[in-house]
This record gives sequence, structure tokens and C-alpha cells, in this order.
Amino acid sequence: MLVLRNRMLASLVLPPPSLLLRKPAPFSFCLPTRLSHSTRCRNPTQNASSASKTAQSPPMSDGARFVGTVLFVPPGVEPDEVTDEMVLPGSNIVVGPYAGDARIREVEFLKSSPRAKDCPKDDRPEFAILGRSNVGKSSLINALVRKKEVALTSKKPGKTQLINHFLVNKSWYIVDLPGYGFAKAPNAAQMNWSAFTKGYFLNRDTLVAVLLLIDASVPPQKIDLDCANWLGRNNIPMTFVFTKCDKMKASKGKRPDENIRDFQQLIRENYRQHPAWIMTSSVTGLGRDELLLHMSQLRNYWDQ
Ligand code: GDP
Repeated sequence: MLVLRNRMLASLVLPPPSLLLRKPAPFSFCLPTRLSHSTRCRNPTQNASSASKTAQSPPMSDGARFVGTVLFVPPGVEPDEVTDEMVLPGSNIVVGPYAGDARIREVEFLKSSPRAKDCPKDDRPEFAILGRSNVGKSSLINALVRKKEVALTSKKPGKTQLINHFLVNKSWYIVDLPGYGFAKAPNAAQMNWSAFTKGYFLNRDTLVAVLLLIDASVPPQKIDLDCANWLGRNNIPMTFVFTKCDKMKASKGKRPDENIRDFQQLIRENYRQHPAWIMTSSVTGLGRDELLLHMSQLRNYWDQ
């Protein structure tokens, strides 16, 4: 298991050597997306196909088939075992044997913390949700948990600059982090988190992964790339969650899948292996069940 976890640490082109073994990272391999239909799956799982039945089709023929994108292959799956059916629609994520019950049965707001050291001290695994202000973070959290009060809590004045913990099924956390890059702030293109947000990432041992939200209705933003690179440099496992994928092409702008492809190309310059990514829409429900399934496999692997 340690070997699998540590392999992902080799994913960056130039990780700082001092950080290489700081944090265990749950997932490992990547490979080109061109799959052979003739390849047999020796250890098949039905999860990907069952999730895809409940999802609406992404606004493209196959979200995982961007030119040059690579698959995110979890532990328990050999890269040469992967078939199309194992890839979650609108993503590069392969579903493996750690995927399990992804349902959210109950969720409760636990606490708001001003600093990482004030966060809950139990060992429950957690997913941090992060993104530029207005990226659709509250809407996504709301769509995931299907409970409006949760998203409202994190929007309350005074809570938006805090680390908000929501306990799910009494066993894991969704953590709502302050948004970054307020449009009105000077130097909005600069990565300018408060020290406490960085402190959270660097010190939170129970952090399974960051869900970094990226607005797919606009071209790649420097601040998002800076954020992704900062997380990557610090070996924080992340999944790119592209939001607003339902938005149609503006008269001049590009389609969501084109913006996503552009983002991937920019990211690829900094990564030898690409993080997991998935397309979502809080309006249509696109990607919701798939994202929860992905989180379940990250969580179950972490828990074992
Ligand atoms: P936050 O500031 O990141 O929490 O963003 P919100 O969840 O408040 O969303 C910001 C705006 O984007 C609101 O007007 C939402 O209605 C809109 N929005 C959020 N998610 C989606 C989505 O999936 N599709 C579309 N079309 N609009 C969205």
C-alpha cells in the first residue's frame, strides 16, 4: 500500500525533494486514454457503468477522450486491464475495486475553524472543496449532499473565511474552504491565500484529496493554474472538478469541453501524470454520482 501511495508522489515534474515523503497520496498510475475494446478486464467492476446510468451525458461524445489526456487509474487496477466501461463518463477516472457505497444518507454541520489546528481532531478522512469565488462551490456542495442548509451555512457572513466541516454519514467530512480570487481584489491573478488556508493543506493529515473546482464556462484562469500548481508542488492529492459544464457556448467564447481541454493542456506542462478530473453541473446533475463514486474509492482506499 505504501508503495502505491508513494508512486503518486512522483507525478510532478519537479517536486521539492524535502516534501517527497511528507504526505501519503492515494493513487498512482496514469496511461493514455486510447483504450482497446478488445482488452479484457480481469477484475471488472460494475460501478462505473451503474453510475453512468444515472448521469446525464456530458456535452461531448466522450469526456475522457480529450487528445492526450491520461487516465487516473486507482490501486487494485492494472493499467492494461482498463476498458472503456471502467472509465466514469465525462472524466478521466477509472473505477476500481475500492469504489463502494457512495450514497450520502445524512450530513450535519459540525464546526467552523479559524485555523487548521482548530479543526476536528478525530481520524475521519476528509475532502476539501476549493475554488475561485463564484466558481459554483456552494451549488456543488448543495448538489452533492442534496441539502440546502449545508451550502447556506458556508455562505453565511463570517463563515466564508473559515474552514467549515460537514460530517457525512458520521464517517467522513466535506470541508468547505474559503474561495480565492475575489474579482474586486487587487492582483486577483495572484495566489494570495491567507496563511491559515495554506496551513490547513500542509498540516491536515486526514486530508484524502482536494476537489479543486474550475469553472468550465470560462477560459483557463491564471489563478486556478497557480492554485493547482501550488497544491501539486506540495504533494497535495487533487481532483479537478469542472463546474458549469451545462453552459452553452457564448457567442464568442469556447464550449466547456474546449475550455477544459485548454486547461488540461496548460496543466500538462507542469505534471508528468495528470490528476483526476471530472465534468459536473449543479444545474443538470451531471457528474454528481460519478464524483461521489470517485470519492468513495479514494476514501475506502484511505480507510483500509
Ligand atoms: P460560489 O461562490 O463558488 O459558492 O458559487 P455559487 O454556488 O454561489 O454559484 C455562483 C453562480 O454560478 C450562481 O449564480 C449559480 O447559480 C451559478 N452556478 C453554479 N453552478 C452552476 C452550474 O453548474 N451551472 C450553471 N449554469 N450555473 C451555475
